[in-house]
Amino acid sequence: MTSTAATRTREYLEEADRWSAHNYKPLPVVLERGEGVWVWDVEGRKYLDMLAAYSALNQGHRHPAILDAAREQMEKITLTSRAFQNDQMGPFLRELCEASGFEKALPMNTGAEAVETAIKMVRKWGYEVKGVPSNEAEIIVCHGNFSGRTTTIVSFSSEDQYKEGFGPFTPGFREVPYGDVEAFRAAVNDRTVGFLVEPIQGEGGVVVPPEGYLKTTSEICREHGVAFMADEIQTGLGRTGRLFCCDWEGVRPDVLIVGKALGGGVYPVSAAIADSEFMDVFRPGDHGSTFGGNPLGAAVGRASLKVIIEEKLSEKSAELGAWFMDELRAVDSPHVDHVRGKGLMIGVVIKESSGPARPFCEALMDRGILAKETHHQVIRFAPPLTIQRSTLQDALGEIAPVLKGEGVKLQS
Ligand SMILES: *Cc1c(COP(=O)(O)O)cnc(C)c1O
Repeated sequence: MTSTAATRTREYLEEADRWSAHNYKPLPVVLERGEGVWVWDVEGRKYLDMLAAYSALNQGHRHPAILDAAREQMEKITLTSRAFQNDQMGPFLRELCEASGFEKALPMNTGAEAVETAIKMVRKWGYEVKGVPSNEAEIIVCHGNFSGRTTTIVSFSSEDQYKEGFGPFTPGFREVPYGDVEAFRAAVNDRTVGFLVEPIQGEGGVVVPPEGYLKTTSEICREHGVAFMADEIQTGLGRTGRLFCCDWEGVRPDVLIVGKALGGGVYPVSAAIADSEFMDVFRPGDHGSTFGGNPLGAAVGRASLKVIIEEKLSEKSAELGAWFMDELRAVDSPHVDHVRGKGLMIGVVIKESSGPARPFCEALMDRGILAKETHHQVIRFAPPLTIQRSTLQDALGEIAPVLKGEGVKLQS
């Protein structure tokens, strides 16, 4: 039985390896089932999902209310295109705007599309409202940013690998160090239309900026007529212990970008959210998406948002995250440099002298915990926000020995 099962895993891995582009380096686990915070592989082994699809699964796997909404909608109509109207998009956008406190939202599918939408919106606003000369708009971005993989978005990446071989690149972006208010202030000029920033850099390694950074940069934006564009695709919808991470500093962005958990792990749903001053630059034909705002996605988005609010997932994340981070910091490990994060968006930084974080993630996998390294040295812990304290407590029993080096094939 065991050998047959192991053979099945190997066959799936080989098949994917043979037929897939090699644009990822996944852990060698083949999953076939998920429920709540748990997933099972093809050999029947159970794992705790502490990545939660990079925070696209804040509500957990197959949340019953989200599945019900999807099923119900599938029985009616799934796609209309924006050439016609449907009865789900309006309610979805109203509920999204009411939850976030904005006037309008533009629905897309993936995160990268919502970021592209925000870039187009802010550039056009820059020309039509701010009066920047044609084609001269600049958007300030941060070193270490991650906002997706389109050619325009990788154009402003500071990660060589994301760009190498993919040029020529889209101009109009200026990079500043993340977390440095004065560098930001110095970079603003009369062609600056926007500041695109992650409130915590997720793919960059769970990098938390100094306290007050968002507040102060947003004030500089207001003084200079620059749109503060918060990429909350990963930090938003409860992940950091507030509905949006900007809420920690009382910052209301000009453009709020959401995705990932807006689809509840069921369907890709994203949006760019803003007041009419920005959103009204879009006129028929300016921008669009075949699937954006489709009734299935909108119904899923409504249910996903409702679960986050009704189950108080932001509050749970704040409470459990603070406690869990303390517990992780209390682990006496020769390999851990420090632990950082907010809510249940936590990074454990492995010392350079202990090698990369990858072998630690492999050792965690062997103990039934799925986590993934980010940016070489960081183990990210970001489980579904529906997780119970007792489950996290049990997980600590597996995580602590691994952080101390047990079962880790150190590559230093
Ligand atoms: C994941 C992510 C994106 C891109 O979302 P996709 O759905 O993969 O296109 C953009 N910004 C941030 C902060 C992200 O974490």
